[in-house]
Amino acid sequence: MGAVSWPLRQWALHPNAIDQNISISDLIVDSDSCHWRWSPKLCFNVASAYECLAGNNWNDRSADRKSVWSLQVPQRIRLFVWKALHGQLMTQLERAQRRLTSDPSCPICKSGPETLPHTFRDCPAVQGIWSRFFAPDDSEFYQSQFQNWLLRNLNSRTSASHNGIPWCILFSTFLRLLWKRRNDYVFSSETWPLGDLFNCAIVGQNLECIAWSKLPAQWLSLNTDGAVDMVNGSSSIGGVIGSCDGSWLSGFNKYIGISTPLQTELWGIFIGLQVAWSLGVEFLQVQVDNSEAVNLVNDLNAERSRFPLVRSFADLRNHCWAT
Ligand SMILES: [Zn+2]
Repeated sequence: MGAVSWPLRQWALHPNAIDQNISISDLIVDSDSCHWRWSPKLCFNVASAYECLAGNNWNDRSADRKSVWSLQVPQRIRLFVWKALHGQLMTQLERAQRRLTSDPSCPICKSGPETLPHTFRDCPAVQGIWSRFFAPDDSEFYQSQFQNWLLRNLNSRTSASHNGIPWCILFSTFLRLLWKRRNDYVFSSETWPLGDLFNCAIVGQNLECIAWSKLPAQWLSLNTDGAVDMVNGSSSIGGVIGSCDGSWLSGFNKYIGISTPLQTELWGIFIGLQVAWSLGVEFLQVQVDNSEAVNLVNDLNAERSRFPLVRSFADLRNHCWAT
């Protein structure tokens, strides 16, 4: 087989695989025939070709994995960054290529096609956030290839001038907030001032609470999280209860129905507390990644909160246990 260029390959394989082609060395040639080396029956099929190409790039992808999955950020941010790194976010250009829209331009600035580099770095509407840290003429920051740009920033542990927060955490949080800001504008016509974005990343993420920390003896931990479909609002929650050394004791998940992200987080904590109480837990530390939900639950006036769920928390926490 010579050089082939299947459009689907760039979606199914790591981009580094695009430059690699199946070559003559993949064939076994004898006196009057040739055979495909990578299948047991020596006959070519697409599955074995995929294994051949993907397998060649396994090691290349390990660096990407480590950069993303070792980040000390909530799992949803890791997953988002992974999608961005592998071009799996539906920009206007991608939608236009799939004939889902006739307009591939950036919905915010309209100055060019909405590609991933444009969305996260080059759009005039987002450069203000980066110029807080980098000079506008910083060619290294603004002109490098998109994936290299992502990886270099994801691997940066610099914390000077970033309120003590490692740059990789701030950067990945910014990326997700930029995408949320873009989606809010596209689907709800809501706009976020960049100052709000900055404050949300710095303050709202409550970053110091993200990493797991060892509990005192006798204490158990409850970790909960929620997921909301941004299209139809349907949501689910899940959580785990672990011992003081981090080992798994119990878990749960539940479909909530139509809900907001904040209400979903609150439902996760509430169901988790109910499960923990039913197990007879006496000392429980609740770990969540939503500072707004934490503030509501810890509010001294929670018993008079406008959220019925928060009022229920207050009642549940008044049982004979420490949370
Ligand atoms: Zn733009």
